Amino acid sequence: MMPNDLLARRTAWLDRLRGCYLGGPKPGTLPGGRTEALRRLQSFDAVAYGRTRNFLDAPVSRLSPYLRHGMVTAVEVRDHMKAEFPSDPTRTEEFLRQLAWRDFFEKVLAWHGRGLDEDLEEPKHAVARVTRIPLDVTNGQTGLPCMDGMLGELFDDGYLHNHARLWFAAYLCHFRGVRWQEGARLFRQYLYDGDHASNAASWQWVEGTFAAKPYFMNKQNIATFSGGRWCDTCRVKCPFDADYPTLQHRLFAGSQAPLGAKSAEAGVRNEDHQPASVTLDDIGPLPPASDLVWVHDAALSWNDPALRANPDAAAAFVFDEPALSAEPWAYHRMAFVLDGLDDLIAHRPDPAMTTLVGDPVERLTALARQLGATAIHLSEHPNPGVVETAEALRTEFRVVVHPRPIFADYPVEPTRFSRYWEKVAPQVLGYRPKSAKRMHT
Ligand SMILES: Cc1cc2nc3c(=O)[nH]c(=O)nc-3n(C[C@H](O)[C@H](O)[C@H](O)COP(=O)(O)OP(=O)(O)OC[C@H]3O[C@@H](n4cnc5c(N)ncnc54)[C@H](O)[C@@H]3O)c2cc1C
Repeated sequence: MMPNDLLARRTAWLDRLRGCYLGGPKPGTLPGGRTEALRRLQSFDAVAYGRTRNFLDAPVSRLSPYLRHGMVTAVEVRDHMKAEFPSDPTRTEEFLRQLAWRDFFEKVLAWHGRGLDEDLEEPKHAVARVTRIPLDVTNGQTGLPCMDGMLGELFDDGYLHNHARLWFAAYLCHFRGVRWQEGARLFRQYLYDGDHASNAASWQWVEGTFAAKPYFMNKQNIATFSGGRWCDTCRVKCPFDADYPTLQHRLFAGSQAPLGAKSAEAGVRNEDHQPASVTLDDIGPLPPASDLVWVHDAALSWNDPALRANPDAAAAFVFDEPALSAEPWAYHRMAFVLDGLDDLIAHRPDPAMTTLVGDPVERLTALARQLGATAIHLSEHPNPGVVETAEALRTEFRVVVHPRPIFADYPVEPTRFSRYWEKVAPQVLGYRPKSAKRMHT
């Protein structure tokens, strides 16, 4: 249960943030914050994970929301795992290999920037794509129990197992003929871990614009790895019920998207849309400071390098109102980030953090001017919003970007995970694994 003062603050914030999120409170939301991230890391069994991770019912870490928002870092997770079994580090090897996908995709984002939002490679098929998601999908009512089950989890729980993400992405792109960017946007809004790098690159991997071929599954694959949860009782005509060569022909032989044109089209669900803004007038007077730390949404940790380097500096978080108005987060994700801020403030009470709503460049500029700050600090991150904000602030302030600890050094263009892993596995694991070449799932 949240203490009353925190609850009152949360309610006030949610009121101010109206228009930046979709839906409302519901039970069972994931608690955010570094404290919770560290607790989960301590209690996770990475050994069992290596054997069963592809099965929907088997335990996975669910650390991605915390990693996405910087509440814990991939380096901290890696070091924790390596310290777990010093005499037999191979026991956590599979987990670390999966974790490396996150680092790989961040390197892809760092390399391409906003270019990651467009096809990185030529599509490997000539099938047309539509630009909006059919209404039955956004309503979670496709009539396919498996896809509707996954959509229910996405909308209500804000989480999907990696295998389910692959299945749904393959369904939307290949079976419904929708552009991968539309699915990526839906995921970014509803997943707790909605992330520019892992999300866009994974959708491109499924579509085949960042892979040697498109990814798709058949009924057998869904039934096996979901433990028959949908297929055992399913009575509908299943579009996935065929062998791979048959599906391959069905999906990619024609030049038209297989099902996409049949449905009504609509954008993503968007409720409660009203403008939101918190300016300095709402905050009141602040003591002067020569340095300001910008805590962005991938740096929500009191252990963040920019905060640690400036323990006495003023600090600010800005809800990016223009971005959130254009692409609102689901309520649960907003609540998760607010938890993260509360946890950060609780561990760094003096000086207090200023939280604002608006355009980050405008708000940070106004705040720095008011404080008399000449330097703005932030921690390094490849998210384009972070890079572009830092660039814009440079016109008036000294901007200091604090490097994050390095997970793996790979200075060349990241094109395929297998190549990256072959090179970096010894750095990540501390030894060369027997087989560095394995597949995404
Ligand atoms: C279409 C699609 C969209 C995706 N969108 C996102 C997204 O928006 N945000 C996001 O964080 N991840 C995304 N992923 C990657 C992956 O599905 C999730 O990181 C993972 O399922 C999160 O659950 P977990 O923390 O329990 O992972 P675990 O299986 O416990 O893995 C541990 C950590 O390793 C990393 N990891 C594992 N598998 C992958 C992977 N395939 N790609 C990248 N990192 C991985 C994650 O940081 C994860 O937290 C996407 C995958 C697909 C196929």
